[in-house]
Order: sequence, then structure tokens, then C-alpha cells
Amino acid sequence: MFIAFEGGEGSGKTTQSRLLAIWLRDQGFDVVQTREPGSTKIGMRLRAILLDSTHQGLSARAETLLYAADRAEHVEKVIRPALYRNSMVVCDRYVDSSLAYQGAGRSLDTEDVAKVNAWATGGLVPDLTVLIDVPPSVGLRRFASPADRIESEPMDFHERVRREFRSLATAEPDRYFVVDGTLAQTDVTRLIQDKVREILPD
Ligand code: C5P
Ligand code: MG
Repeated sequence: MFIAFEGGEGSGKTTQSRLLAIWLRDQGFDVVQTREPGSTKIGMRLRAILLDSTHQGLSARAETLLYAADRAEHVEKVIRPALYRNSMVVCDRYVDSSLAYQGAGRSLDTEDVAKVNAWATGGLVPDLTVLIDVPPSVGLRRFASPADRIESEPMDFHERVRREFRSLATAEPDRYFVVDGTLAQTDVTRLIQDKVREILPD
């Protein structure tokens, strides 16, 4: 089973995906917890290029292809092998991040971004996508450390990203579970566990 976490900056995806992985292991599942970009050897280099705040002029199409390259490597080297072994895969960001950030955020045609990513992943779609929804003004305030290249984008960029995530969730209600990321962390964790429990294999 493949579970992806999506959401804007500071939504709590990293924390919640880690907590879900721990909980699934407690239930006896073998779990691979992973993230994008940067979960392979090549992917770590791509992540460094993508998040370098001196790379301000990176074109939107090149950015899209670099995220897709990271994802292609990730799917082939990490995600598919884990699914093949029957492990649970819990992934912090996946294709929908590209639809939101490169499609809506960078104003590229979302269908083009979807096509590139369908090719890059060989059409692999999560069984469940958890959207942790927070207003960007709340999420961005959760950071103490200096922002990376994308976190430094203006507020309207992050608003477009959020809107796209929410409309993706509305368009595919069977795949998506939306949770209010402004709730207390323990409540978010419990809501996600309740949802995942519903779809777990026996
Ligand atoms: O989730 P994390 O903060 O580690 O993601 C790294 C950065 O890459 C974030 O700033 C995120 O907004 C950005 N990103 C992006 N497009 C993607 C995936 C991530 O701009 N498709
Ligand atoms: Mg970040």
C-alpha cells in the first residue's frame, strides 16, 4: 500500500508521516518511510540544486523536469521495490506537489505537468493521499530557520499552491483525505490513523 502526504510549507507532513510510519510498524507492518525530493543518491544532488536559494533564475520547465527526474529515480529505486516486497510506503510529497508547485505555483499547464509525471512514474498513483491543509500564513510562520528557494516565494504563490491541493482533493475524493493542519498535532495524528485503519489490509 502506498500512502502519500501532501501540503504546503509548515503543514506538518514530515512530522505526521513519521508518526504514521511508527504507528504502522506498531501494527506489525513493514514500512518504508521516504520523502521527495532527495531520497536517492542522485535525488540528493537534485534536491540540493532545486533548493539552492542562489538558483533564482531556474526556469519553470527545468524545475518541473528536475523534480520529475528525482521522482523517476525514487519510484524505480525505492518505491516500486518496496511495494513489490509488500511493504507499506509512506511518502512525504509526490506527484501532486508538482501539480501544485510547478503547475499552479509556476503557472504551467497542470495537464502538461501531470503528463510528464505520469511518464516519470510509470503511472504509479498512491492508494491514499493525505492532504494536511493549512493557510500559508500559518504554515510559513512555523519556520525558524532561513527559507529555501521555494519557501521564499511570495504569499500569492503559496496561496495558489494551497488552492490547487484543495481542488485536487475535491476532484478525487476517493483517493484523498483532507485534514485540518491547524488542529493540535495529536488530533491530526489521530484523524490520519482513523482514516488509514479503514483501508488497511487484514
Ligand atoms: O517538503 P520539503 O520542504 O522538504 O520540500 C522541499 C521544498 O521543495 C519545499 O520548499 C517545497 O515547496 C519544494 N517543492 C516544490 N515542488 C515539488 C516538491 C517540492 O517546489 N514538486
Ligand atoms: Mg520545506
